[in-house]
Amino acid sequence: MELLDNDPTNLGKKLAQSENIMDGLKDLIRLCGDDPDRNGLEETPFRVLKAFLEYTEGYREDPKEHLEKVFDVDHQELVLVKNIEFHSMCEHHFAPFFGVAHVGYIPNEKITGLSKIGRMVEGYAKRFQVQERLTNQIAEAIEEILEPNGTMVVIEAKHMCMCGRGIKKVNSSTTTTSVRGVFAEKGESKMEFLTLLNR
Ligand SMILES: [Zn+2]
Repeated sequence: MELLDNDPTNLGKKLAQSENIMDGLKDLIRLCGDDPDRNGLEETPFRVLKAFLEYTEGYREDPKEHLEKVFDVDHQELVLVKNIEFHSMCEHHFAPFFGVAHVGYIPNEKITGLSKIGRMVEGYAKRFQVQERLTNQIAEAIEEILEPNGTMVVIEAKHMCMCGRGIKKVNSSTTTTSVRGVFAEKGESKMEFLTLLNR
């Protein structure tokens, strides 16, 4: 997988080596019924390729590592980071899905910087994804690095593959949840999360 090389400075080289992908994209344009050589579409295969490398930047990092900057703080109550915006790519249709993630955990000695949680979410979002896996990966990263008493992640997202094709449900959104530790065991912890979320 040459395109998933770790060196971002090789981007230009990668693009130059991707003639076959560009040819394939030209074929796709023809198949859809347009002329890949007309003015507006001429540069499109190159732009699509470049955009895909950006959509999938998360493969070139281990998002968990953002959480490794931890602080010892005597705080045993819920930490909730709401409305972390993300953009991801549905792996079934290569169509965008986007929305917000709400990430909460009950620390057990280790806490991390609030912005680090956002960076971690971004790292998993910038891959080919399904919303359920994205939700679980975020929860697992928190569990593994911070070893908290509990973790709860809620993601609300809109999927362009549901909005733009087939059953055109423009306003539908999908909510997924992942719970670990006390959030799975104790109803009141989950309630606290949801109460703070809806406030
Ligand atoms: Zn889809």
